[in-house]
Amino acid sequence: MNAEIIAIGTELLLGQVVNTNATFLSKELATLGIEVYHQSVVGDNPKRLKEAIELAEKRSELVILTGGLGPTKDDVTKQVVAEHLGKELVIDEAAMKKIRLFHKQRKHPMTENNQLQALIIEGSVVLKNNNGLAVGMFLNLENQSFLLLPGPPHELEKMFEQEVKPLLLKQTSKETVLLSRVLRFYGIGESRLVTLIDDLIENQLNPTLASYTGKYEVSLRLTANGSSNTECEKKLDNLEAIIRERAGDYIYGYGDDNSLVEVVSKLIKEKKLTLSAAESLTGGAFQSMLTSTSGASEFFEGGLVTYSNRIKEEQLNVDRKIIDQFGVVSSQCAIKMAENVRQLFNSDIGISFTGVAGPLELENKKPGTVWIGIAVKNKETYAKCFNFEGDRNKNRELSVLSGLHLIYR
Ligand code: ATP
Ligand code: MG
Repeated sequence: MNAEIIAIGTELLLGQVVNTNATFLSKELATLGIEVYHQSVVGDNPKRLKEAIELAEKRSELVILTGGLGPTKDDVTKQVVAEHLGKELVIDEAAMKKIRLFHKQRKHPMTENNQLQALIIEGSVVLKNNNGLAVGMFLNLENQSFLLLPGPPHELEKMFEQEVKPLLLKQTSKETVLLSRVLRFYGIGESRLVTLIDDLIENQLNPTLASYTGKYEVSLRLTANGSSNTECEKKLDNLEAIIRERAGDYIYGYGDDNSLVEVVSKLIKEKKLTLSAAESLTGGAFQSMLTSTSGASEFFEGGLVTYSNRIKEEQLNVDRKIIDQFGVVSSQCAIKMAENVRQLFNSDIGISFTGVAGPLELENKKPGTVWIGIAVKNKETYAKCFNFEGDRNKNRELSVLSGLHLIYR
């Protein structure tokens, strides 16, 4: 099957928003064996949208439209498609119920606009939106299929995974099984990762490989097809083993939905360990991040924010001599902070953060210089130095994530 993508939105034409939906869809369709021959962008303009649809249906079996499904005047996608196909818009009761409930819960009066969101093109399969109110639609017609998806990327991506993929699979391959596995990486950039595995990407066929960047991390999706789950699993295992040989140090987990903090929290819980933290440049951000996951109380004892040298000395018993001789941005200070907080809180693991967030230098050290200390009961305490190159807050965020990653390893 071949496909084409029409992204709709004047904001895309104006360059205010990057057309990430097309990139996402193209990557996903490739893993399904669907080839994308064309991508285009049109503004929120019924006439030009109609022209784009007329061109697309001449040359593509699957026409995918994203954006313009919302309740505002400029959202015209389903109206234009319906009119073009000579079909009516009808109310979808399930969508209507959800919209009513949404407004009731928020005590907002419902407007006529809102009801527009429950309209679907007659005869279409409704695609549920678990992240928003606009439903998607799939129309399987004689000569081609139309797929209408919402504009906001987080809505589109979830809908694609949960609703669209199973439908397209049914269309493309009747018997084959398709299985995906997502590997999550931290501490390596996408370009470096891709370089390490460029031959695998170049020669990919089955399984296919696609990389995605998240905030400060990278994922690789491996997708295999075969006649059974076992066959697919085996193919995925083989490819994963090769990737692990080359970049295994950076892999921290699997799956789309697990963040680094969740993976680390789960690991500490499984090992029945406890944790405490001493933070300087991160000012409590590490502890805030940890406690953002439910169940943190099972392993997280607490911590100290020891921002000034005086508090490091008075509250955390970091020897004045260490501070005077090596400075606070030092492995010696990070090690003492980690060891002392571990003892103070009587936990299995103690972690510490000390460094230069920026923008100014500290102790003649460049902004982004950060020491993270890890003290584990009955093991030798160590500290690792990082040289981040962000602004103040990025350096602090990267410190928190790198601390999590050190615990994971
Ligand atoms: P909503 O119900 O939120 O209005 P919608 O389907 O009408 O959904 P749009 O109004 O077209 O979506 O777009 C909403 C926002 O989604 C845009 O302002 C833009 O930030 C983002 N967006 C839309 N299309 C794309 C795209 N192709 N790539 C990336 N982001 C997009
Ligand atoms: Mg729009």
